[in-house]
Amino acid sequence: MNKQEYIDTAEENLFHVYNRFPVVFDKGEGVNIYDTDGKKYLDFASGIGVMAFGYGNEEYKDALKNQIDKITHTSNLYYHVPMIEAGKKVCKASGMDKIFFTNSGAEAIEGAIKTAKRYAYNRDGYAGHEIIAMEHSFHGRTVGSLSVTGTEHYREPFLPLMEGVRFAQFNDINSVIAQLSDKTCAIIMETVQGEGGLYPADPEFIKAVRKLCDERDMLLILDEIQCGMGRTGSMYAFQQYGVKPDILTSAKALGAGVPVGAFLVTDKVASNSLVPGDHGTTYGGNPLVCAAVDKTMDIMTERKIPEHVAELTPYFESVLDKIVEKYDFVTSHRGMGFMQGLVLSEEVAPGKVVAAALEHGLVILSAGKDVVRLLPPLVIEKSDIDEMYKLLTEVLDTFVK
Ligand SMILES: *Cc1c(COP(=O)(O)O)cnc(C)c1O
Repeated sequence: MNKQEYIDTAEENLFHVYNRFPVVFDKGEGVNIYDTDGKKYLDFASGIGVMAFGYGNEEYKDALKNQIDKITHTSNLYYHVPMIEAGKKVCKASGMDKIFFTNSGAEAIEGAIKTAKRYAYNRDGYAGHEIIAMEHSFHGRTVGSLSVTGTEHYREPFLPLMEGVRFAQFNDINSVIAQLSDKTCAIIMETVQGEGGLYPADPEFIKAVRKLCDERDMLLILDEIQCGMGRTGSMYAFQQYGVKPDILTSAKALGAGVPVGAFLVTDKVASNSLVPGDHGTTYGGNPLVCAAVDKTMDIMTERKIPEHVAELTPYFESVLDKIVEKYDFVTSHRGMGFMQGLVLSEEVAPGKVVAAALEHGLVILSAGKDVVRLLPPLVIEKSDIDEMYKLLTEVLDTFVK
């Protein structure tokens, strides 16, 4: 089939729930991805922050192939080696005590919500607790995760969602305090807001939220599905803030390309919340995906990926500075590590820039309503950033009036 035939067949059969770009991706190598016509693209999206090592890492591929030859699935009714190895490594890297593997980010959020509710139920002896979430947050598309997602148009058609969620302004502690009630059992937020527009938490804010949680025995849930796994220059972003969550969610780059997520808890939470029978998953953390997580953790450590991100971030940001200087319609950039956004003024829609960039051989993303988002593989070098600058400025030049 040629490209158009592929697209026509897709639209004939796939539920049109995405407005997909007219490209059919086929394979990847390093930081490049190729479509079915053999056209090469520089990837500064990494499958929305998933492909931490880019494409075709030999060690990673071998680990998966070996696991396929052994066993791809058992069930959570039994132990298996890849989960034991992967679980140990993610706990160690995050400083959390216990882990539960899921199939996706949204399911990690579901687990986090259930754990927080169960914790409060155990303590108080009754249900009906509330959760405070943030405006402009994104936690996923399932009913539970959508209930704590602070984007009205994602939620509206599906109301009523889970009860007992109140929204506060991110980085505004007084607005969080204003939403407190006797029933509040948890506060959920991204350490760095991704989809909402690349807003890192202010250090004072996150510390104040932590303190509030400690004072009232509420659980702090940090969603690091996008900002975790080395992306901000530390294994998890919270590690740069001097605070620790009670519950942490991870996914996206956790398996560097296989569908896997996790929620992690402290010992205090683990021993006072979910018990056998409360929660489960058929696939979650099966041998195949856990072999990927295990190898991902090894590569993160051996290749010092978080350190590499931290080292290259000033250069990345200096190149973004140049872009902000060069174009009147690029008003600023913000983000943390390799999770960066260029903020555009009203006259240029980020979706238009993303589409033009793709046409020009550069894969990037948008976020919020005015941000072009860059989530490159974590293994990029200076030369890749230079190449991105070249391609992106060629694209942005076409938007100059
Ligand atoms: C992507 C994302 C999710 C949802 O993950 P899925 O795997 O798509 O369900 C949740 N939280 C954040 C911060 C994300 O970026």
